[in-house]
Amino acid sequence: MRRMADCELRGRVVLLREDLNVPMDGGRITNTRRIEAALSTIREALGAGARLRLLSHLGRPQAGQSDPALSLAPVAAYLSQALDRPVPLLPWTEAVWREPPPEAGELVLHENIRFLPGEREDDPELATRLAGLCELFVMDAFATAHRAEASTHGVILKAPEACAGPLLIREVEALTRIIEAPERPLVAIIGGAKISTKIDLLNALLDRVDGLILGGGILNTLLYAQGFPVGQSLCEHDAADQARNFLAVAQARGKEIPMPVDVVVGHLPMPTSEADVRPIDKVASDEWIFDIGPRTIARYRALLSQAKTLLWNGPVGVFEYDQFAQGTEAIARAMVQSGAYTVVGGGDSLAALDRWGLADRVSYCSTAGGAFIEFVEGRPLPALEALRERGGGP
Ligand code: ADP
Ligand code: MG
Repeated sequence: MRRMADCELRGRVVLLREDLNVPMDGGRITNTRRIEAALSTIREALGAGARLRLLSHLGRPQAGQSDPALSLAPVAAYLSQALDRPVPLLPWTEAVWREPPPEAGELVLHENIRFLPGEREDDPELATRLAGLCELFVMDAFATAHRAEASTHGVILKAPEACAGPLLIREVEALTRIIEAPERPLVAIIGGAKISTKIDLLNALLDRVDGLILGGGILNTLLYAQGFPVGQSLCEHDAADQARNFLAVAQARGKEIPMPVDVVVGHLPMPTSEADVRPIDKVASDEWIFDIGPRTIARYRALLSQAKTLLWNGPVGVFEYDQFAQGTEAIARAMVQSGAYTVVGGGDSLAALDRWGLADRVSYCSTAGGAFIEFVEGRPLPALEALRERGGGP
């Protein structure tokens, strides 16, 4: 893949695809992590004298329709403040395709790309029009690399020149370090709510990891599949066959999946619910499993301390409530203390790290969600395929 660092930017019209898809609450940005990440690339391009056009999606508008609630206006305002300069937001009018590009060292933000018909369908005509907006297209939005859309795939093939941005490169390098020849032992911690959304990831990881630590609703489903009582716990009863199959494959391949010996249960699905520790076979029918127990934490800690590479996705308990946060906190702390190369992905996992101020002590934090998971699953990502197809030269 060609890199932005190897491209001439001075005085050239650069169309930069970032992931500025931030959570909003009534026009207020509630988490700026993605914009902050993009700012480093934006500053680099402006500093190098690019005439910068920024491109991103936001949310899921009705195909081809403008939705004021999903306008990038708050993002333009945030960028303007952070960069201390005007950041005009350009709506998708007919005129926008003919307007002259910004001057060298200046930038504009184009409105939500999903307001345009054809974006989601990777329409070649739209890709051609987008390509016409620039001399160089920079794909920096790894979080969208798993989707073949006009602004994440088609335009890469049609632009006069195309390359990968520094954020995308960093993400690919961090994940590649886990996928290809990781320092061993490689241990993954997979938690979170639903096993159905992560079963492909779990199966793919079986080939790669030396040990696997499971928690959250995923663990509940595995416990249920093995005949343990799970009471009222979040558990996908109809995924029991998949769960059993997964455990059988793990055993056949000699992969270590230490099952918990105790869990923390609640008596109500509420923030005020009292917590009690139960041996794994003593969960009552009116209880909810909300965390892993202290003896289990000790076992997991031992496994984590030996790891040389660690991958974490999904909290192992309902960490949003203090009384059920111990497991997730212990995992997070053991992870940063292990000295291993550590990669964390997933919105809630990153929120958990932030809660204990540990994000800075992780080797790499991925905000890429679905793309992160598909990359780790070993699937080809359309944006990366297109960048490779364009190759190293102009
Ligand atoms: P990520 O965003 O890091 O990928 P997920 O979205 O898969 O993580 O899962 C996070 C959610 O899982 C959290 O809101 C957490 O409360 C929930 N969770 C974890 N353990 C349990 C449990 N035992 N019962 C119910 N919910 C759980
Ligand atoms: Mg989540």
